[in-house]
Amino acid sequence: MLEKRDFFINGEWVKSQGGTDHHVIDPSTEEPTAVITLGSEADTNAAVAAAKAALPAWMTIPVEERIAYVSKLIEVYESRAEDLAVVMSAEMGAPISMSRSSQVGAGSYHLKNFIRAAKGFEFSRPLGSHAPNDRIIYEPVGVAALITPWNWPMNQVTLKVGAAAIAGCTMVLKPSEESPINAMVFAEMMEEAGFPKGVFNMLNGDGVGVGSNLSGHKDVDMVSFTGSTRAGTLISKNAADTLKRVHLELGGKGANLIFDDADEKAVKRGVIHMMQNTGQSCNAPSRMVVQKGIYDQVVAEAAAIADKITVGPASEEGRHIGPVVNEVQWNKIQGMIEVGIAEGAKLVSGGPGRPEGLNRGFYVKPTVFADVNNQMAIAQQEIFGPVLAIIPFETEEEAVEIANDTPYGLTNYVQTQDMVRANRLATQLRSGMVEMNGTSRAAGSPFGGMKQSGNGREGGVWGLEDFLEVKAVSGWTPE
Ligand code: NAD
Repeated sequence: MLEKRDFFINGEWVKSQGGTDHHVIDPSTEEPTAVITLGSEADTNAAVAAAKAALPAWMTIPVEERIAYVSKLIEVYESRAEDLAVVMSAEMGAPISMSRSSQVGAGSYHLKNFIRAAKGFEFSRPLGSHAPNDRIIYEPVGVAALITPWNWPMNQVTLKVGAAAIAGCTMVLKPSEESPINAMVFAEMMEEAGFPKGVFNMLNGDGVGVGSNLSGHKDVDMVSFTGSTRAGTLISKNAADTLKRVHLELGGKGANLIFDDADEKAVKRGVIHMMQNTGQSCNAPSRMVVQKGIYDQVVAEAAAIADKITVGPASEEGRHIGPVVNEVQWNKIQGMIEVGIAEGAKLVSGGPGRPEGLNRGFYVKPTVFADVNNQMAIAQQEIFGPVLAIIPFETEEEAVEIANDTPYGLTNYVQTQDMVRANRLATQLRSGMVEMNGTSRAAGSPFGGMKQSGNGREGGVWGLEDFLEVKAVSGWTPE
């Protein structure tokens, strides 16, 4: 078992001041894979103090120098890709092949996109030709606390660290206590990339401890948080006394609207996307909303596709899905499957219990419910497991109403060959993102939600802007 008790504070690996041990469990085996420390308030204070002390120098060096540090980080990141893939698999259960490609790949992708965005970003610009003596200057928000979840660990860490570093913020990262080791490997990379001491600090902890200490800290200027809506609410309340900026990327309950004229791969694409990462993605298309004319055939096809998805240990190569992250999530998902059955939804694939032959590990059967109505709990609550709800509709208006009738608003999906209708729907769906006919968002496109899915945007130019303040200067002498 790995022993990783130290924290990276002010450029050094240091011991905790009064923290407690915490075991990280491998969800494929239910055995401990590492021991870490959950930090104390004194640890949080030390990390914040280091970030505060490093801020004046870091925010005033030319942005080109900060970009150069991030470029070096990408080199180091790519050289340690395998280390990251292995630890992510062991701590959060992504199968190793998927961990190598998607989980690790997401990190370098985001860092590269930030560099491109920053090179085209005018950090100092005129207000407009009508006001030659007015200047708009973008400056870092200051000390940023970065709190990340376990489901796409490196994706989240790089979306925050890359943007904060280029913007000129100094940082304290607190990764999820479920998946802390990849963040510790990342901290080693920041060290190797040579970032000045105190610019990046990392400590482990849980939400009630280090997480709350950070969100309430008087010297933290901003919290950038990805995780559950529940924790997002608590963070917002705790941050209110110090009026710090709070950036939230929260849960989702995406609708995938499949019209009678959808292309022939639409259903398969929807089911596979839902089950990817064992259903543990905030943008999962978890409600498949299907037009009546093709409803029966879609239900049969979705069930057949889900039946073919295999489940197995994260350490094995292949295209199977792994376990869910922990026992709490396993129990929660089982409970929601039971709720779906009790609510009268029709179980057409999967169901309660572990898949056959897997008696240990937090494995869940890929599950599909048909004949769901949008008022059922399985249509309203984020399950965060491999559970798809299929809901019928008749008219386009009804489809939009169902899609928008949720507290969330992260990603919705549209499948129709009628491009006029698709474009119309894109403007009517209340979500931060709409993906149509299987076209993924391009590099640098902003990721984020509306309503209870959050209030920030990550990635590219918008991701940078979330770590910047806008300063208006008048009386500026044009050069
Ligand atoms: P979680 O909210 O339990 O934990 C996320 C992080 O917040 C962890 O580091 C945790 O220690 C910390 N935390 C928990 N309570 C806290 C508190 N009161 N104060 C400060 N920090 C606190 O979420 P999770 O279970 O790790 O992640 C799954 C959730 O994340 C899902 O709801 C998912 O939809 C969401 N998510 C959203 C996005 C997005 O970009 N919108 C991306 C990935 C995951």
